Amino acid sequence: MQIAARVLQTPPYPFAELARIKREMLAQGADLIDLGIGDPDRPTPPHIVEALCRAAHDPRTHQYDETGAGLPAFREAIARWYENRFGVRLDPDQEILRLIGSKEGLAHMFWSALNPGDVALLPDPAYPVYKVNTNFAGGEPHIMPLLKANGYLPDLKAIPAAVANRAKIMMLCYPNMPTAAVAERDFYQRVVAFAQKHDVLVCLDMAYSEIAFDGYRSQSLLQVPGAKEVAVEFHSLSKTYNMTGWRIGYAVGNPQALQALGKLKSNLDSGAFLAIQEAAAAALAGPQDCVSQMMTIYQRRRDLLVEGLRKLGWPVEKPKATFYVWMPTPKGRTSAEFAQALLSQAQVLVTPGGAYGGQGEGFIRMALTVQAADPEARIREMLERIARAPDLKWDATRASPSAKGRA
Ligand SMILES: *Cc1c(COP(=O)(O)O)cnc(C)c1O
Repeated sequence: MQIAARVLQTPPYPFAELARIKREMLAQGADLIDLGIGDPDRPTPPHIVEALCRAAHDPRTHQYDETGAGLPAFREAIARWYENRFGVRLDPDQEILRLIGSKEGLAHMFWSALNPGDVALLPDPAYPVYKVNTNFAGGEPHIMPLLKANGYLPDLKAIPAAVANRAKIMMLCYPNMPTAAVAERDFYQRVVAFAQKHDVLVCLDMAYSEIAFDGYRSQSLLQVPGAKEVAVEFHSLSKTYNMTGWRIGYAVGNPQALQALGKLKSNLDSGAFLAIQEAAAAALAGPQDCVSQMMTIYQRRRDLLVEGLRKLGWPVEKPKATFYVWMPTPKGRTSAEFAQALLSQAQVLVTPGGAYGGQGEGFIRMALTVQAADPEARIREMLERIARAPDLKWDATRASPSAKGRA
């Protein structure tokens, strides 16, 4: 049997790899503390589950989704939610497209926007989906490094004009995964001006738009005048409403880009379960205190984790948004080595920053979505294990492995 080069040449999906390591350790009886994958550990709020159950009992939801861009009730709920949240009006018929989770839409956006050889401007570190699908589509990734010194925003002026003119798509993600950085209006204004100048479609991944702390509210790109001519945003119910397994999301913005994506999708999938779209409409239209309650929970975990690690001498910043803590590894240790040390010495699973690209090297990511009966107790336990492990002390780990060998 032949396997296509595009599959053979693609590394395993990093989180599938993490899931494999986790299964192996659990099978060996390890008492694993899992801060690896960002997947809400709390259940979907009951009123959303009930909306699904009601809709699932209606036989009209059992057939193909022949709605084209998505169930009208869902798109209307999106338009209302969006206007209420960002003050931007969307046309439910032209400017909204339902997705089978935003990952699906993000992946296919590259297929509907790129011809072979076209440049895609991609952030690094980033969700691996952007680069893999650029490659699948025959596009040419141009990396925009996200540096700590720039607040993890790409330096648009550093993109050579020749590259910018060949670029057809620019991918951004804020609040950012994996760095937890946020973007403000002035940056989005520069992005829109850049896109207009170079005729580039900007795609903003907003999977974490509602995951924020201390009263922080993230901005939308479409709030910038003229943005709808050059931009599409990808939204998801997964992180906001603890619905990762449901596979439902949506794209909003430029009608031509959405029409192209919708045309591609109509040849690939057959829409999304209508009952899930009804439940998603209920999530957006219903009470939002479930979201703020989750933020209180994540914020407590964030404070516990960050303050605990700081007491151990680790230089850790408190994220304003997303449920990730992004922190440097000690000097002389790669992200994979350090993640491995946490695993073997404390049985703590984190994601090595290198999984998100070359610029993620030298960092690890900890997720606040701890899968456990008592997540805060697990975070405390993790801090104790790190404190006990001699080779995880920040000062001790600072020494390069060879220096330690000599001591
Ligand atoms: C989780 C995540 C998504 C995808 O979420 P869906 O479940 O596919 O809607 C998209 N982008 C980033 C950065 C994510 O972390």
